Amino acid sequence: MKTLKVVIVSGVPGVGKSTVINGALRMVEKKVDVQLVTYGDVMEEIATKRGLVKNRDEMRKLPANVQRDVQKRAAEKIAKMSKKQLVVVDTHTLILTPEGFLIGLPRWVVEAIRPSSLVLIEANPQKIAGRRAKDKTRSRDEQDPKGIDAHQQMCRAASVAVGTLTGATVRIIRNKEGKAEEAAGIFADLLLKV
Ligand code: ATP
Ligand code: MG
Repeated sequence: MKTLKVVIVSGVPGVGKSTVINGALRMVEKKVDVQLVTYGDVMEEIATKRGLVKNRDEMRKLPANVQRDVQKRAAEKIAKMSKKQLVVVDTHTLILTPEGFLIGLPRWVVEAIRPSSLVLIEANPQKIAGRRAKDKTRSRDEQDPKGIDAHQQMCRAASVAVGTLTGATVRIIRNKEGKAEEAAGIFADLLLKV
């Protein structure tokens, strides 16, 4: 199956996805024509245009089937963008909810996006807990290091599932404490090869 020029980046909240992506994009800006999209932003834009929500917080309250429809339209929009340039998608494979993990990349989403690669950012669970606690710009859910560890293992399983459905390569990049630039360098190298 032919893949599109799309690289999906995932990892648990606070692991450093945005930090690593932005670092890598700075490194390749003169060499690669690349656009960064945040999946949640694309969904919000579609839902707002259709008059379904006035802000992002209302998204989670939409009926599940409407959310799934918006999720699918976002995937189709991203697939279209990739015709013009390489697209890096910042997203979550699994979202922690009181009912269990919500699947961020279900079959109909990845079959529309057909990513060439999926990059999973990982770090030490205790360090991730520390990063969440220190980052006052965001309000992330509380999760103890054991829970974060389990969440990361589930993300590996979800990433392999994406690879199985699409043929995308799956790459794990460690974002070691104080070494975000190193992780960004590894990701930048990968972007140069897509
Ligand atoms: P979310 O999924 O919630 O958007 P994220 O994975 O994008 O989270 P970031 O916002 O990039 O995470 O990073 C979370 C916090 O951790 C930020 O304060 C960031 O500066 C810090 N951080 C990122 N990478 C590292 C690192 N290697 N060492 C120490 N701190 C880091
Ligand atoms: Mg982020």
